[in-house]
Amino acid sequence: MESLNQMYETIGIDKKVLELGLEVEASLRERFETIDKTAEYNQLKVLHAMQKNRVAEAHFSGSTGYGYNDMGRETLEQIYADVFHAESALVRPQITCGTHALNVALAANLRPGDELLSPAGKPYDTLEEVIGIRDSKGSLKEYGITYAQADLLEDGSFDFDAIARSINDRTKLATIQRSKGYASRPTFSVDRIGELIAFLKEKKPDIICMVDNCYGEFTEEIEPTDVGADLCVGSLIKNPGGGLAPCGGYIVGKEEYVEQAAYRLTSPGLGKEVGASLGLSQTLYQGFFLAPTVTAGAIKGAVFAAALYERLGFPVFPSSDTIRHDIIQAIDLHSPEALKAFCRGIQAAAPVDSFVTPEPWAMPGYDSDVIMAAGAFVQGSSIELSADGPLRPPYTVFFQGGLTWYHAKTGILFSVQKLLDANLITF
Ligand SMILES: *Cc1c(COP(=O)(O)O)cnc(C)c1O
Repeated sequence: MESLNQMYETIGIDKKVLELGLEVEASLRERFETIDKTAEYNQLKVLHAMQKNRVAEAHFSGSTGYGYNDMGRETLEQIYADVFHAESALVRPQITCGTHALNVALAANLRPGDELLSPAGKPYDTLEEVIGIRDSKGSLKEYGITYAQADLLEDGSFDFDAIARSINDRTKLATIQRSKGYASRPTFSVDRIGELIAFLKEKKPDIICMVDNCYGEFTEEIEPTDVGADLCVGSLIKNPGGGLAPCGGYIVGKEEYVEQAAYRLTSPGLGKEVGASLGLSQTLYQGFFLAPTVTAGAIKGAVFAAALYERLGFPVFPSSDTIRHDIIQAIDLHSPEALKAFCRGIQAAAPVDSFVTPEPWAMPGYDSDVIMAAGAFVQGSSIELSADGPLRPPYTVFFQGGLTWYHAKTGILFSVQKLLDANLITF
């Protein structure tokens, strides 16, 4: 039998790289224990919700056509509602992605003449077109829904004065993005989101507070709905799909707002009653069941990457000692060669398409070429090991995911190997 070290060599990681990795890993033991505790807590939360709702094999059979009386779909939605301590949930494969889920939640709960407020700075890129910050067909702006934004203060904290000033009698809904996404601000903890929601409700008690929860699910023991969020929205090809969901999104929160979203997603008059689950129910249940552990593996990967690249002298964001509220790790690699080498390492570690070489290309919506590495079972899944970055200074790579901690670790070691092979680092 080959030893573990030999296995790493066989797959393409030198002893020297492995040794550095093991040293860094050893320094993270306590961090990993804390991450495991969070996963354990969340595992019990999900398990309890499944037991309480008496999940049985009958729930996995799925429906076709209109999807009336789909017990599996309805029970899964009740499980999501229970895990989020919310009144209601919409969990559907017909929601194509995170942006779609956010658009449905927004468009469903806003009416012409209303104003949408982002109290925590610029939202995720794709929302710019949803809102109409950048013109797009069918944007909220085209329907006469205006937008106001209060930027964060220099230190990343909420600008409460500016927020108070931007609330008016038309302000209907506030959208708060938990994860920094690909911006350079810190990710908000659920507690901080709670403070912001309390402030907003004090200024305007009937304001609907919606949280873009993408990448945040199960990183903490509580979710935004535990601290007053009226709506919480995310993608099933990120954390809550557990890597198994092949598509889908969720909207969870107060009954009246989730109901609006259901009427928007399907049709006025139909709402939650329709929507065939086809053969996907069992996968969505099982993915949600695995999600706490999968998320923990991805967080360990992010912390490990931060610690390893800190050791190699690169600026990392957040730093390795930062408590995580999402799964994204950014590393400034300083040169186009290093960015390419990093992505090639991630690609080489993939279970799918490990033999392809990622190349930078011009992507719509970006002002420079972008390089992406992903060898995923599900197209575009960013709970699976993936990395990308625009080819411009400071050549930041955004790294996330990993269905298991061991795979995340292998991917990061591979990235170091590629940098070493290209003489871009020494140690
Ligand atoms: C990924 C993401 C989205 C959009 O999700 P897609 O599935 O890519 O459409 C929105 N907000 C945040 C914070 C995200 O991370």
